Amino acid sequence: MKITFYGTRGSISVSEPEFYQFGGNTSCVLVTFDNGRIAILDAGTGIRKLGRDMLAHGIEQYDNIFIALSHTHWDHIQGFPFFTPAYSPQRHFTITISGRESKITNLEGIFATQMQHEFFPVSLSEMGAHISFWQPEIADFTAPSGIKVYASKHSHPGNACGYRITEGTTTLVYCTDVEHGETIDPNVVKLAQNADLLIHDAQYTPEELKGKKGWGHSSWEQAIEVALQANVKKLALFHHDPDHDDGFLAKVEKECQRLFANVVLAREGMVITL
Ligand SMILES: [Zn+2]
Ligand SMILES: [Zn+2]
Repeated sequence: MKITFYGTRGSISVSEPEFYQFGGNTSCVLVTFDNGRIAILDAGTGIRKLGRDMLAHGIEQYDNIFIALSHTHWDHIQGFPFFTPAYSPQRHFTITISGRESKITNLEGIFATQMQHEFFPVSLSEMGAHISFWQPEIADFTAPSGIKVYASKHSHPGNACGYRITEGTTTLVYCTDVEHGETIDPNVVKLAQNADLLIHDAQYTPEELKGKKGWGHSSWEQAIEVALQANVKKLALFHHDPDHDDGFLAKVEKECQRLFANVVLAREGMVITL
C-alpha cells in the first residue's frame, strides 16, 4: 500500500512561500493499493493536483474510484469542483461517508450546493463523470477488490468519521478533525490499534489547544498519545494549522520525534510505502 499526501493543511489553504515545505493545500490523501487500484481520502484543495497526476500518469481505473470523506467541512470538499477526472464521462466515482449516527441527510445536496451558480460556474450534474453518493449504515465494508474498511465516528462539530483500511496484513488508519476532550477517545485508540500507519489530526500545540475547546481538533501531543496507546508502527501528523509556517512545524516535528521515534509531519507530495 502506498500513501501520497496531496493536501496536508487544515481549515483553509495557504500559498505564501513560508508554507512550501509542508504544503498549503487542504486535506487530500491518495491510497494506492498493491492490487493497483486507488482510493481517495477527502477532497480538499489537494485533489486538484491529484486529478492532474491521475491524467498525466494514465490511471485507468474507470469502473469506480471511492472518495471517502471524513466529513463535509469546506477544507475537505472544496477541491472537488477542480478535480478534472470528474469531468470525464468515462469515469465513475463513489463519494462516501459513513451513514451511522451521521448528521448528514443529503450528501449529494452538499456537493450540489457548493457548485450552485452563485458559487461556481459549472453545476455538479454538468461535470460529466458518473458520480454516486453512498452513506452506508454499516461500519464494516469489504470492497469487491478485497480491501476491508472499518469506519467509526469521532467528536468534531457536526461529527467526523475515521477510517481503518486493510489490504492483506497492512493497515492504514485515517483520523482527522478529531477533538478528544479531557482524555483520549478510546474509540479512536480502538480504530488505530496496531496500525502500520496512523494519519492523525495535529492542528494545535498543547498550549494552543487550551484556548480552542470546541473547535474540533487535536494537539500533536494527543496524536502521539493515541499512537502510543494503540501501538501503531508509524504516525503521520496531519491537518496543519494555517498559522503554522515551515519553521514552526520543523520545530514541532523535532519535539515530536523525542516523544515517538517513528513520527513525521505530513508534507505535500510525501509518499509513504507500507
Ligand atoms: Zn478540516
Ligand atoms: Zn472539520
